[in-house]
Order: sequence, then structure tokens, then C-alpha cells
Amino acid sequence: MNEKLGKVLVIEDESKLARFVELELKHEGYDVILAEDGRAGVEKFFEEEPDIILLDLMLPQLNGIEVCRRIRKESDVPIIMLTAKGETMDKIVGLDSGADDYMTKPFAIEELFARMRVALRRNSSSHNSNVLTLKSLEIDLSRRTVNFNNNEIELTKREFELLVYLVKNKNIVISREQILNQVWGYDYIGETNVVDVYIRYLRTKIDDRFGVKLIHTIRGVGYFAKDEE
Ligand code: CA
Repeated sequence: MNEKLGKVLVIEDESKLARFVELELKHEGYDVILAEDGRAGVEKFFEEEPDIILLDLMLPQLNGIEVCRRIRKESDVPIIMLTAKGETMDKIVGLDSGADDYMTKPFAIEELFARMRVALRRNSSSHNSNVLTLKSLEIDLSRRTVNFNNNEIELTKREFELLVYLVKNKNIVISREQILNQVWGYDYIGETNVVDVYIRYLRTKIDDRFGVKLIHTIRGVGYFAKDEE
């Protein structure tokens, strides 16, 4: 018996390409699920819990960027975007939306397999720990603890969720509205400056305490957690 390499969800509306990729992947030893538009892709993701997703950018119903965002809210499953030639701007937006990698069509199938192996390996090694990091900051998602250079930081539930959201999206600027929707929920009614207030709490407990600058403000736009020097 061939050992299965994993379950792949292919979200692609070009049926010829989808069939070709399906056959090649099955031959290689993967299980394959196909979805031919963005909405079906998101549904199949939740039903089937694939190990990796190949996601076309231009799709009916929901485009690839939106599919990627929706899946990223729930999961860090590896996502490889498939883009048409010359969609350079789209590639960048694709990576910002949380895709792990992208490939330009047409591509060599061996190249796709290689990228998939890398993405799957990267994902399984980060899964073992369930820890998010930002420089010396470590967030343990299972234990719900936060450390900076092994100093424990005590956070309220809301502060913890805000920090997790920032670090999951590190190096990406996030607007106050996005933060409100994600951390407080769409039905939140109250002062919108609650975000600024909680950012200040986090800065006091992390940046000020340890003399670092992890949380950055882009005036008039929003906030981001910075990993790079
Ligand atoms: Ca397409």
C-alpha cells in the first residue's frame, strides 16, 4: 500500500487545469478534492480539513484573496496561490492575505510538488509547538501564556487576543476596524478608541517593560507588530 502524502484541496475554475493537477497529484500519492469556485472552496475546506490548498487567484463567487482571508481566520493550513502570468501586484496582495507561496501558471508539475513539500514541512514543524513568536516574544497558544526572554507577561483575555491577532499578522498593517471586527467582534457597539486603549496596555506591559518596540503605529491607518529590524 502506498502511504498517502496528505489531502490536497484544489480550488480552480479552469476545469482542464484542475483535472490535470488532480491526476498528477493522485499519481504522486495525494488525496485530492476539487472545488471550482471560491465559495465551494471555502465550504470544502471546512468539510474536508485538507492538509494543503492550491488556490487559483481569479475565481467566480469569491476570488482567491478573499478565500485565503476567510480560511486564514480559522487555520494556518499551507496555501499555495496559483496566479496567471503578469499578475505581479496580485502576487503581493496574495502573500499579504496569508498565502504561503505562489506559482505562476503555466508551471511545471515537479516544481509544484517541490513547493508543496516545503510548505507541508514548514507547517508540520510549526505545529508541533503551537507557539507564535515575535523576536524574543513567545506566545504559547495551547497554554495561553506569553513570555519575553522567559519573563512571563500577564495579560487579560482581550489583551491576549489582540496580541495574538497582531502577531499572527506580523509585519502587516492592520486597521482599527479590522482589529475591532476580529478581536471584539462585528457586533461590538462602543467606543472605537477601545483599540488604541488596548494597544497602550500592551505597550506598557511589553514594549515599555522590556525596552523594545514591537508594536508600531501607522498614523491614520492602523497598527502592526514588527518582526524585522
Ligand atoms: Ca481562474
